[in-house]
Amino acid sequence: MIKSLCIFCGSRHGTSPKYHAQAARLGELCGQYAVDVVYGGGHVGLMGVVADTAMAAGGTVRGLIPERLLKREVGHPGISELIVTENMFDRKDRMIAESDAFAVLPGGLGTLDELFEVLTLRQLGYHRKPIVLVNVDGFWDPLNTLIRQVVEHDFADADVYPMMQIVQDADAVLPALGIDEDGGDTEPLRRAAP
Ligand code: AMP
Repeated sequence: MIKSLCIFCGSRHGTSPKYHAQAARLGELCGQYAVDVVYGGGHVGLMGVVADTAMAAGGTVRGLIPERLLKREVGHPGISELIVTENMFDRKDRMIAESDAFAVLPGGLGTLDELFEVLTLRQLGYHRKPIVLVNVDGFWDPLNTLIRQVVEHDFADADVYPMMQIVQDADAVLPALGIDEDGGDTEPLRRAAP
């Protein structure tokens, strides 16, 4: 059963208001369905949007941030728990270990690094947790094309495809993880309206 979702996303807002809107929607849905959010602990960009909306919807949000980034990414003061890690590696390790699934919204190089970390660890059999890419406005299409090229040129087997589910918007993330209104496995976790 999926109880916690690690959300990787940009520390900036990006150019399209759709990125902000979809980050907000995903945070809100996690709060409503009582799926705990694990994320990078910042209060900036889409990261801050996810955390704020999940908290506003009554959710639990755990942020992990390295000491060095506390100022740069503005450690979020209003989340359920902010854990300060020694460095970036500890942070990523703990985010991966302490969540049941991963959702990836649009983001920059840090988001790509985090995505490839969970993908390669899954490819090597270190975990079997679901990975969902939220393809807002086709943001991840070029990545999908690149991964197809990698497989077509025999640098990876085709079994990498099912390791990553691609959905078109935030509303499709929880259903892709088996969490939905029609009796998905976390239906009993839904919180009563405040
Ligand atoms: P970005 O997608 O670049 O806006 O960054 C999203 C998150 O990834 C932020 O919390 C960054 O601190 C983090 N990040 C940036 N660079 C790296 C890296 N090399 N390894 C791991 N995380 C990173």
